[in-house]
Amino acid sequence: MSNRVPADQDAGGRGLLFIVSAPSGTGKTTLVERLVQRVPDLQMSRSYTSRVARAGERDSVDYNFISRDRFDAMIREGAFLEWADVFGNYYGTAAADTDALLVAGKDVVLVIDVQGARQVRTRGIETVGIFVLPPSAEVLEQRLRGRSKDSEEQMRRRLDVACREVSDFVQYEYVVVNDELETAVSRLEAIVLAERGRVKVMRHRAETIIGTFRRKRSETDGKST
Ligand code: 5GP
Repeated sequence: MSNRVPADQDAGGRGLLFIVSAPSGTGKTTLVERLVQRVPDLQMSRSYTSRVARAGERDSVDYNFISRDRFDAMIREGAFLEWADVFGNYYGTAAADTDALLVAGKDVVLVIDVQGARQVRTRGIETVGIFVLPPSAEVLEQRLRGRSKDSEEQMRRRLDVACREVSDFVQYEYVVVNDELETAVSRLEAIVLAERGRVKVMRHRAETIIGTFRRKRSETDGKST
């Protein structure tokens, strides 16, 4: 059970915005998919991308797959909370989609790269950043080779980018090492639940409870006079 009451019953309002970034091949999407299955009222935001769907990927499920022209138009319209060119394809989070979920009181997870995370922070939006690390560069290389959907050159490129990106972890609030899947999911879950327990999040519910104590005290005071 989560500490906080379900979001729609909590007049405290807006949900929390989590950002999860990690080098390609760290397994962050799988981790976050498991996380949202475990934790109620937590949703993964669906990104837009100009890349073509891979075998097994579905439009409006894995991504909103759109053309490069449509992506450019959305940039011009200012539709993106953040967007980035990752390995030659464009990826972005639609501001309206995220906002609708947050306003409905849902907590939202953006699974985005370090460039996108920087943009969200520069906008001064309150976020909880979680950086997922593989146990080592060697393990990441093995994982990238293992999934074999990339050519040797693409894999080298992913490793090069990873080497540069990992030092960004200091910009985030939390680090989770993905050494074992279920353990890493539990670490993510612990972070989400801890953030939901913060006074600023719990204030409304706490005030309601405090109100019952105030009423109790005035009843008792009334009886004793
Ligand atoms: P893939 O093509 O393997 O699904 O994703 C490639 C990379 O794009 C991943 O590192 C992923 O985090 C990043 N990515 C996916 N969606 C978004 C997004 O909306 N914004 C940004 N900035 N990066 C994204």
